[in-house]
Amino acid sequence: LKRKLALDVPLTDNSVPANFDSGVKVVVRMRPLRHDKEEVDSSAVKKISNDSLFINGQNFTFDSVADTNATQLDIFELVGAPLVENCLAGFNSSVFAYGQTGSGKTYTIWGPPNSLSEDNITNDQRGLTPRVFERLFARIDKEQTKHSDQQLKYQCRCSFIEIYNEQITDLLDPNQRNLQIREDVKSGVYVENLTEEPACSMKDVTQLLIKGLSNRRVGATSINSESSRSHTVFTCVVESRCKSSADGISRFKTSRINLVDLAGSERQKLTGAAGERLKEAGNINRSLSQLGNLINILAEVSQTGKQRHIPYRDSKLTFLLQDSLGGNAKLTMVCAISPAQSCRNETFSTLRFAQRAKAIKNKAVVNEV
Ligand code: ADP
Repeated sequence: LKRKLALDVPLTDNSVPANFDSGVKVVVRMRPLRHDKEEVDSSAVKKISNDSLFINGQNFTFDSVADTNATQLDIFELVGAPLVENCLAGFNSSVFAYGQTGSGKTYTIWGPPNSLSEDNITNDQRGLTPRVFERLFARIDKEQTKHSDQQLKYQCRCSFIEIYNEQITDLLDPNQRNLQIREDVKSGVYVENLTEEPACSMKDVTQLLIKGLSNRRVGATSINSESSRSHTVFTCVVESRCKSSADGISRFKTSRINLVDLAGSERQKLTGAAGERLKEAGNINRSLSQLGNLINILAEVSQTGKQRHIPYRDSKLTFLLQDSLGGNAKLTMVCAISPAQSCRNETFSTLRFAQRAKAIKNKAVVNEV
């Protein structure tokens, strides 16, 4: 089912909230040790305070460090609640979960398997995404009631994709493979023929999440499984229309929420790969390594103030999310780490990545439609 819910010719509300915070927010989440498999008494990482930790003789400071005691609700309050407010204020707002396979990205973004169900939306284990939409719909209700005199109305529509081997699959219609990204003046960057479903309630979103997640490549997580090498992106476009009581003119705002579960950041072993296999391995990583390049470039531009070409188009993920990475965008990186000694090197490189992301400052540029 493909529906287009575009409103009339939009007149955008260009106001930038006074409290616009331009930085990329970086939250580190450390998962608990797995007692069945990992040394219990030797953590490679030490949390020092609510925003800093220590590893390999080095201190790192971020916006927040959530340790093994942090609950799914804590992470929602830290990351999800501000995401909803930013989106309602008109900013494209994204959360990316970054980290090695097994560090807790999927747990953070969606929750463990079976935590999502239509008749039980109170499961404590449910992840960031269902909690974000519960809050979003509650806030929309409140805003519509508060501004009923201005006939404020919101509409949401959702899509769900997987990027594997630089190919985009529609998780809401998995027969649609190898979809192409297009760009034009009217619609900006979009995926051609992608299913977009209207969503008016938590029930609608839960159904879409259950359907899409079950269509991912492989459910089980292991370092070499295909699932650990694919990116999943759930997007919700939020449109609002409001009639000014002063001049009677309708004003429109459009912004999007992206929840992104990235491929495992561990370096893929290319040993023995040749020809097509080698090409495939390169493609699998291209979106992730290109995201790393962009983070480096955006951080450099923020620090030096020098303009540079930003190569968004060099991978599917960065091309698709370019409106959510720079300019008018609010980005939160949840960097998932394991405290296990065996993960020390990967954890260290995740924290180095997180540190570079922290250096980015976006500009409060407003969308022009
Ligand atoms: P990733 O998506 O990074 O590969 P997962 O989210 O699948 O990792 O997490 C690996 C395992 O660790 C899963 O069994 C998950 O339920 C568990 N896990 C991850 N983070 C936490 C946490 N904060 N608390 C409890 N269990 C967790």
